[in-house]
Amino acid sequence: MPTPTNKRKKPKETRGGIRRKSSHPILGKEFNYVLHLSEEDALVLKRYQDILAQGAAGFAEKIYNYMFDNPDIADVLYAYERQGGNIGELVRSQLEHQLGLLNGDIDEKAAAASEQVGREHYRWGIKPVWSLGAYRLFVDHIKELIAGEADIDHHDRDALERALIKVVFRDMAITSEGYWRAAVEQLTDQRDELGHEQDLAGELLGSIPQLLWTVDIEANRIAYASPGTQAFCGDTLEAPIPCFYRIPGSERERVLTAWQQVIDGAAVQLEIPVSGEDDSARWYRLAFYPTANRRGRVLRVHCLMEDVTELHSDRERLEQLSTQDEVTGLANRTLWYDRLASALAVARRNPGASVAVMVLDINQFKMYNDTLGHEAGDQLLRMIAGRVQKVLRDTDTLARLGGDEFGIVLPMVQDAEKAAERVAREVMNSLSAPFTFKGRELCLSSAIGIAVFPQHGEDSHTLASHADSAMYRAKWNSAPFLFFETETEVSASEHLQFSGQLHGALEREEFELHYQPKIDLSSGRICGAEALLRWQHPQQGLVLPKRFIAVAEQLGMISPITDWVLDTALEHSRHWKVDGRPVAISVNVSARSFQSPGLISRIRQALDKAGVEGSLLEVEITEDTLMSDLELGARILDELSELGVSIAIDDFGTGYSSLSYLKRLPINTLKIDQSFLQDMANDPRDAAIVRSIIELGHNLDCKVIAEGVEAQGVREQLRQLGCDLVQGFHISKPLPDAGFREWLLSSAH
Ligand code: C2E
Ligand code: MG
Ligand code: MG
Repeated sequence: MPTPTNKRKKPKETRGGIRRKSSHPILGKEFNYVLHLSEEDALVLKRYQDILAQGAAGFAEKIYNYMFDNPDIADVLYAYERQGGNIGELVRSQLEHQLGLLNGDIDEKAAAASEQVGREHYRWGIKPVWSLGAYRLFVDHIKELIAGEADIDHHDRDALERALIKVVFRDMAITSEGYWRAAVEQLTDQRDELGHEQDLAGELLGSIPQLLWTVDIEANRIAYASPGTQAFCGDTLEAPIPCFYRIPGSERERVLTAWQQVIDGAAVQLEIPVSGEDDSARWYRLAFYPTANRRGRVLRVHCLMEDVTELHSDRERLEQLSTQDEVTGLANRTLWYDRLASALAVARRNPGASVAVMVLDINQFKMYNDTLGHEAGDQLLRMIAGRVQKVLRDTDTLARLGGDEFGIVLPMVQDAEKAAERVAREVMNSLSAPFTFKGRELCLSSAIGIAVFPQHGEDSHTLASHADSAMYRAKWNSAPFLFFETETEVSASEHLQFSGQLHGALEREEFELHYQPKIDLSSGRICGAEALLRWQHPQQGLVLPKRFIAVAEQLGMISPITDWVLDTALEHSRHWKVDGRPVAISVNVSARSFQSPGLISRIRQALDKAGVEGSLLEVEITEDTLMSDLELGARILDELSELGVSIAIDDFGTGYSSLSYLKRLPINTLKIDQSFLQDMANDPRDAAIVRSIIELGHNLDCKVIAEGVEAQGVREQLRQLGCDLVQGFHISKPLPDAGFREWLLSSAH
């Protein structure tokens, strides 16, 4: 068969292609031995070589026809031609090879050449069976020559024919061996390559920490398991999850559900704890990747298992950090809101159930923190947390909301208000014993605000904000705890709305004072004016103090506002005096301002600055402000009266005053709260209260003023009851400075 020459374009050799040189060369002498091919055979062939080479052209044509008559071989030849091969040359080289057999070369070199022909046949896809046909033609051709050639010695014909058969057999056998050796070598190369890849894969799978295995779904067996998987799960790998028995019982359901999803065709991932040899559980990420056939039926599932304990604990730590207060280890604001939201969700599903939300603030914490240092402050917070935690149930949540503020959630309490009151008292008691710190005894008190679901709000933020404002009210009033009251609290939205804007309001000069005159009932003459704060809000226009004073208190901004009010009111008062109409001015001072240490010196400064004597100033405080810290209150009032400043108790009748105490204080005026005047004409009980207050005031050597007088009838009634002064819309609405000056000049008062 054709032996492609090196002129022809060779197909691209692959890595698994044919090797040119065999590692074990074919030994021609073995073939010679088996075929009894001897030197004599070689000699006889050699002797008649030229004669037998005759008629090569005719034989070439036979070979050619044979090849193209056979469609299978023809196809291979066409392909050869398409790749640039020359068929004529091919036929010639085949001829040369076969005629070469007649030259009597039976050595190793000739054997190697024959082997190479077989290799080329393999390479070109020429099957040995087709070569057989070419040999048959060759033998027929030579035998005809031997029989018919006169120049061949009669005696040599048999020997020549035998030698011919032997060399043809030899060549056929060696080319066949070359053919299959090439085939085997190619397969071996491919196998080696595969083996190499497999070795690399094995090395990879053996050195990565992930465990991998493949489950044959039909057979429900593990089709492959990485070395790591075998090491981890033991030799007997049970399908589909080899370490299933090491997953805690409570988690197995999750794994089974995930497996079902994989069988349905979804890739699934989950994290599960798996116990190790020593029973200590570690976290693993299990990932299942299904391989399905075209109809979507899952045939195999590739599984990956990876130790994610570190990641898991980092995440847990992170989660903990994001939900835990670092100082006390309690829940933080985020977790507190979470717990509150879940408690509300449960309560909503249970008719009649309620939830109490409490905000607790430590009154003296800031002072201790500032004087003892932050480390001591942190220590104190931990001690407070410990004590409060003790009075709560396991199901309650205590959280540190920030600074010295703690939050409590009491879920699912039947009578929430009662329960909250009880808890508030217990918390208060638990904090009342002094805290021993570095040999010192620190005393604390707390203020607690309480909001109850559903009475005080439906959602967690409303409730929390309501508990917060109730806490502030408790603080101003020095009450240990107070419940949220709809009317008195600043709404959360207002708080939000104003808190940002209030900060700049002073600098932007958005505040102004309005003045409302006070009239002496017996003389009808003006005897003072109350300064009432207004906020010219850029968007909302004139905002009344009820809406922002509490916010300012909560934001700790009240003192600078009080300072501004004092300065401005005294400045105006000075103008009125210059105008020849000196009018005493009353300024409202809220609890926080009143109790702040610098109040007296600031009032002194303001008086000096305006050049107004103390007798032209009156300070209005509420009963609660005064009573929240009687000792401090008494001291401040003494100092105020030393400055000549008068003191009025505002909204009298709405708070709780210790009458015996009032008697000892330098109070000048009682202001009857306007709520008693509204109905006084119709309600004899209100009239009785007003009468008692007037009497009480007089007994305490105080003047009594009624505020919120809107009608002449009420004014008259008050005059008859002996009330000294009145203030209200009936006389004048609060007026801005200019308006008030006009009123002063024009009015009969
Ligand atoms: P207050 O000190 O009891 O002031 C009296 C309130 O009654 C004023 O409300 C006044 O406008 C209103 N009023 C006066 N006459 C009548 C009347 O005939 N009928 C009715 N219905 N109301 C009348 P305003 O100005 O809204 O102030 C409310 C509260 O805000 C004050 O109550 C006071 O506690 C507080 N406040 C006002 N100015 C300041 C301030 O500069 N500093 C502080 N800390 N609080 C202030
Ligand atoms: Mg007032
Ligand atoms: Mg009042």
